[in-house]
Amino acid sequence: MSYCELCGRQNAEKLKVIVDGTVFNVCVACSKHGKPYVAPQLAAKRKKQAPARQTSRITMSDQTMLTPDFAGLIRDARMKMGLTHEQLAMKMNEKVQLLRKYETGALKPDEVLAKKLERFLGIRLYVRSDDAAGDGR
Ligand SMILES: [Zn+2]
Repeated sequence: MSYCELCGRQNAEKLKVIVDGTVFNVCVACSKHGKPYVAPQLAAKRKKQAPARQTSRITMSDQTMLTPDFAGLIRDARMKMGLTHEQLAMKMNEKVQLLRKYETGALKPDEVLAKKLERFLGIRLYVRSDDAAGDGR
């Protein structure tokens, strides 16, 4: 158990955000004051993926993509948790209208929000583009 480094509240979520270039462990309420912090493993992975020397091949900077059925995933996960749009929006400190749009597919969540949704709902919205292509099931 750690404590929110911004308000001192007990911080079960252990959210990491960057405020003025410094990483803080904060509670949900304080997390909106900073930029979400990318886990070191992820950052390291990305660095490794970047070619050390220049190649002529053009590669995508990011191999993950938003899954095409993000709308259904978000809606299913939310309903499984028994949450209304309003309740989920409150938990996430986001706007209800945004969540509604994501669930109808009218709007795609940006990467930050998608990660947040993944965390709150326990789903995966970003898939490796090669996985998505080869996933026949
Ligand atoms: Zn706090």
